[in-house]
Amino acid sequence: MEAVRSQRKSSFSNGGGGGVSTLPIYRSAPPLEVRLEDFELYAVDRLRVLKRISDGLSRGKKPDEMEKLVLDLWKTNMRHEHSSEVVNKDIISHFVLRLVYCRTEELRKWFLSMETTLFRYRFRDESPEIQRALMAEFDLQYKAVSNAEYESVKDKLNQVARAIGQPITSTDTIFYKNLHRIWSIYIGCFGYSYDQEIWIDWVPFEEVPELVAGRRVLIQKGNAYIAMNQVVSLVITQFRSLLSKALVLTNRKWTSMIREQEKDRLTPIVEALSTSYLGPDYSQPREHAELSLKDIDQIAKSSFPLCMRHLFDKLREDHHLKHGGRMQLGLFLKGVGLKLDDALAFWRAEFSQKVGAERFDKEYAYGIRHNYGKEGKRTDYTPYSCQKIISAAPGVGDHHGCPYRHFSEENLRAALTRMGVGNRAMEDVMDKVRNRHYQLACTLTFEAVHNSTCDAGVNHPNQYFNDSQKIFESKKSSSNPKGAAAST
Ligand code: SF4
Repeated sequence: MEAVRSQRKSSFSNGGGGGVSTLPIYRSAPPLEVRLEDFELYAVDRLRVLKRISDGLSRGKKPDEMEKLVLDLWKTNMRHEHSSEVVNKDIISHFVLRLVYCRTEELRKWFLSMETTLFRYRFRDESPEIQRALMAEFDLQYKAVSNAEYESVKDKLNQVARAIGQPITSTDTIFYKNLHRIWSIYIGCFGYSYDQEIWIDWVPFEEVPELVAGRRVLIQKGNAYIAMNQVVSLVITQFRSLLSKALVLTNRKWTSMIREQEKDRLTPIVEALSTSYLGPDYSQPREHAELSLKDIDQIAKSSFPLCMRHLFDKLREDHHLKHGGRMQLGLFLKGVGLKLDDALAFWRAEFSQKVGAERFDKEYAYGIRHNYGKEGKRTDYTPYSCQKIISAAPGVGDHHGCPYRHFSEENLRAALTRMGVGNRAMEDVMDKVRNRHYQLACTLTFEAVHNSTCDAGVNHPNQYFNDSQKIFESKKSSSNPKGAAAST
């Protein structure tokens, strides 16, 4: 795959088996030319899908919820204005993210897990014909098990089927047997009903570890039987194994060649992608939203996420914040609608109690005007995302960073109690923190204090604020339908 600055044309089809699959198995990078803009844009779209899958898994969503989530995400994010380009977008984005996520063990593990989950649900969504074509692509060749063979194990298959709640419902059956693999130990599986058909395959047991681990197979005389509706385990094991090996190889190529060769063009994009924030930038407040100084204390209490509430309280308490804290809180306040004049008045009122008004004007006012693009390069600076805040390394005396990551457990519990998080929600939050799902912990806090869901998860402090305000606004308008006004 080559990144170019010109137009590219290509098409893809799995073919075979009586249907055209739109699900590639990504065996090798196809000879496509990719425009540099698409290289990044496609990868960002796929990354949105993978990140939401990661959130769904961390939240402990059930398989049927995950299935819906994955398919919805795919439809929403992986569209293309030209339908013929949808499959190319899929392939290109996958191979770009391979480059991005091959670079460390941790990145490889995450990518492997998310891509496998994505593939699992996309495979399940395909028709039986396409599923069989894909199995052939993975070199999982099966042929029919004879009726005589089926008859000899039928009763036991039915027993297993009933035990796991998937009874065999039809006598009109077709069975498959892997004739290539005359192994000393086979795995098996049992029947399945799919459009009045039952499929049975014999496969080596190491290809379906999930089924063996879940005791969902019939094993007899060292052989075992697999049903078509469980074939997904077989396919996923193959997919995972191929991708895992491919990631290691890609890493070798990346470190030995690509990184250096592409240092002026692709390398900066690849290196930025794994840590990039994918949401809106929040440098401008919501339409018509303005935060006035007289409301700021009350709004901080009701709608600031913990990171900003902590900074705000510390500023009120100490009348001072170090540089990291001033940047994190200052840009957040700009994003929620605090105008420059009000921001100067707010910071001056606090700092002058500690350093005096004159020193504030001399040493600190410049930084505030700078954040609003009124000094220096006159850039309109963007409020920090969760990812940026979480990856900060606050030192002694600093108060910036993400409390879910940077507070001790004791301090975090105390802060969450002050926010009104009850005992049950507290344990859920702490559980996510222990597993290093800090944004998810923040999402659960949001849900607990607002008594409302936040399906998209918290990705940005300003998003937390906006979502919180929306909830208060809708409560206000439902209790006062005539004259609801924005609370900021
Ligand atoms: Fe702030 Fe994000 Fe951490 Fe929540 S998860 S406290 S919004 S940095």
